Amino acid sequence: MKNRKLIRDLEETIENIPDFPKPGIQFKDITPIFLNPKLYEDVIADLVAFSRGKVDAVCGIESRGYLFGIAVAVALEVPFILIRKAGKLPPPFVGIEYELEYGSAEIEMRTGQVKPGQRILIHDDLLATGGTTQAAAKLVENQGATVSQFSFLIGLKDLNGAERLKDFDAEVYTILEY
Ligand code: AMP
Repeated sequence: MKNRKLIRDLEETIENIPDFPKPGIQFKDITPIFLNPKLYEDVIADLVAFSRGKVDAVCGIESRGYLFGIAVAVALEVPFILIRKAGKLPPPFVGIEYELEYGSAEIEMRTGQVKPGQRILIHDDLLATGGTTQAAAKLVENQGATVSQFSFLIGLKDLNGAERLKDFDAEVYTILEY
């Protein structure tokens, strides 16, 4: 069930910056959340309630996916795995390439940190086109694990990111949508 008060508090806190980093983009700045420890706690509690008892590990997407993902994993008492942009992790690692609007990108994680058979929560701060999240989910499933949940603070409805996550038999949760 949606937590109305939390949604209202977040709407009042998250800043919308028009035309950043490019014309036409409405950038959602989550940094004011960290000025308010009680609100941060409420966000974590909400994400934890969604995932409790349902996952064996949490994968967070660089870098804003780490800010909430680690706290969620600690509260759930499960491992946290970093999914990083290419070139940052020492070997051994596994990676996957995916298409961007212009060109391509790659994400990686350390080999063996996601284990076959695990139920995985993939977490990021914001679901836009879903391209990065979809690639992260493929990378996780290539390791023999199952993506059973996705969670985000924010979903941008018009970009239809959830469509790209339909290939996975997983629940999708966004605290609030724009
Ligand atoms: P995507 O792969 O298109 O779903 O992009 C998701 C990633 O890009 C997330 O990690 C977000 O942090 C970032 N992102 C995309 N659009 C925005 C936006 N309008 N405001 C803030 N962050 C964004």
